[in-house]
Amino acid sequence: MNHPQVNQLIQQWANICTALATSHTRLIAVSKYTSDAAVQTLLDAGQCDFGESRPQNLRDRAMKFPHAQWHFIGPLQKNKAKYIGKYAYMWHSLNDLDTAKLVAKHVDGRQLPVLIQVNISNELQKQGILPEELRALYTAISELKGLEVIGLMGMAAKDGDARAAFQRLRKLGDDLQQEYGTVPELCMGMSGDWALAVEEGASMVRLGSTLFDSYNATHFNET
Ligand SMILES: *Cc1c(COP(=O)(O)O)cnc(C)c1O
Repeated sequence: MNHPQVNQLIQQWANICTALATSHTRLIAVSKYTSDAAVQTLLDAGQCDFGESRPQNLRDRAMKFPHAQWHFIGPLQKNKAKYIGKYAYMWHSLNDLDTAKLVAKHVDGRQLPVLIQVNISNELQKQGILPEELRALYTAISELKGLEVIGLMGMAAKDGDARAAFQRLRKLGDDLQQEYGTVPELCMGMSGDWALAVEEGASMVRLGSTLFDSYNATHFNET
């Protein structure tokens, strides 16, 4: 394939990688609205980490692209826990102990790295635990066999103060570091606010539309 749109996708990906390089921020390419062909294009270009927000889609793509690392970033219902335990490379959206226990049952001998999703947006309807619930959930997850808590994930509200939200997650991470001595991963920042998130210390960003939109607009028939 050598369409101009493919080159444009690779160019946009390369620009983002360059922007993330100085801070060593890991790019999660969120592929939920794009085609298998676009995933293959970025895989070939050297992108390893991809994100999906629906459990079945993660499973399907993990089976199709076993050499990519599939990050689960969306809400999880208990009856889908097996897909994440089995196929996810990392689980970013852990926000409930009972669901975590079910996922842990399906990891089959490995240690699944997880992030606890915290609601940092000051909006009630947002996913994630409240900051004041973090300590208890962190301790409980740390005792579960099969899962390894490696950090925190958060989302800023669309029209809110993104910087303040990211600073909140950073502060929670700093507190964990004080207490446990290891530097936690901070996964924060999406297409509209990732530059701010990087400034505030994101170790991973989750980017969908800014990567794939121009490609999707010209390949809408291709999924
Ligand atoms: C879809 C999604 C993203 C990517 O969003 P864009 O704004 O398209 O970059 C990031 N995080 C989560 C949890 C998502 O569901």
